[in-house]
Amino acid sequence: MLSGRCLCSDTSWSTSVPPKIVHHCHCSMCRRWTGAAFATLVWFERSDVRWEGTPAMFRASPIATRSHCGRCGTPMALSYDDRTDIALAAGTLDDPEQVMPVHNYGAESGISWAGLVGELPEKETKERW
Ligand SMILES: [Zn+2]
Repeated sequence: MLSGRCLCSDTSWSTSVPPKIVHHCHCSMCRRWTGAAFATLVWFERSDVRWEGTPAMFRASPIATRSHCGRCGTPMALSYDDRTDIALAAGTLDDPEQVMPVHNYGAESGISWAGLVGELPEKETKERW
């Protein structure tokens, strides 16, 4: 069982099946959508995902829509018009350790420093709640 939610908890999802695939996406659209260096996408069949709350939809291109929490703006999902599956934003996972990305999609668009995460010095956050 995997589940996730937005920052304000108005929008959440759950599924009882394992993801079809998990990967990073380095395209500029995913970067802007997430506001991060890259997106990590967790794919399921749409029919396997149950939603609580209704994410706000945004037509991001002629072939795909993206959704986010209408209250707090957390990116939630990417779906292509002609596909039956949906990519959920890994950042929404309640337990991200349950999935493992297997490739870098759109690697040609990747930011050069996006791969340096493990090489940087580590500092602890003081903000916890
Ligand atoms: Zn929210």
